[in-house]
Amino acid sequence: MVQQANAAGVTRLIGVGVNLEKSANAVSLGHAYEEVWAGVGHHPLEASEPDLQALRELARDEMVVVIGEIGLDFEHVGGPARDLQIQRLHEMFAIATELELPVGIHNRGAANEVLEVIGAHGGIRGVMHYFALDWEWAQKFLEVGFYLSFAGLVTRPSRDDLREVVKRCPADRLLLETDSPYGNAQKRMGEPNRPAFLVDTAEVVAELRGISLEQLGDQERSNAIGLFQKMK
Ligand SMILES: [Zn+2]
Repeated sequence: MVQQANAAGVTRLIGVGVNLEKSANAVSLGHAYEEVWAGVGHHPLEASEPDLQALRELARDEMVVVIGEIGLDFEHVGGPARDLQIQRLHEMFAIATELELPVGIHNRGAANEVLEVIGAHGGIRGVMHYFALDWEWAQKFLEVGFYLSFAGLVTRPSRDDLREVVKRCPADRLLLETDSPYGNAQKRMGEPNRPAFLVDTAEVVAELRGISLEQLGDQERSNAIGLFQKMK
């Protein structure tokens, strides 16, 4: 998968963890492949209690560039209670602040609450992963210094609102992701997503912004290194 990504021009990958075990897997991949870095996180829908001490220790690894995936998901039925999710998000933000790492945020139906948590941790930097909201919300996350990361959703015929955000997002705050195996671009619906397919989304984003794929690639490289600073 890494070779295929490289061949497609996707040369920096982040594997994110959703719990301790998967975060450890991501760190191992980071050590195994020159092109791969890792995120250590505890997903808001994880049923297990996070082992904060173990997550903090793992996040000290040199390959870890982000505390993520973390966040709030109020739309999924049967997930952890809202208060518990918020408490865990504060705990993960505290680890990010202590280790001077950015955060990778998952948000479904909890934008106001995510903004409140960001506001409570001064100076925290991060990215709204799989950004799916309109320009009004986008501005609120840009105002607190966050990056917006776009996936295959921007290629869906129904998402003109999201394409508007892609057009208006400042060049130095725009990131791309696959969210693989999810997040396919329209032309590959039904197929498991993979890092090489980032180019599908990038082509659409470059066209929307009226720049070449190469210009977008240069911008993305510099944005990714700017946020995920250990990712040189
Ligand atoms: Zn997510």
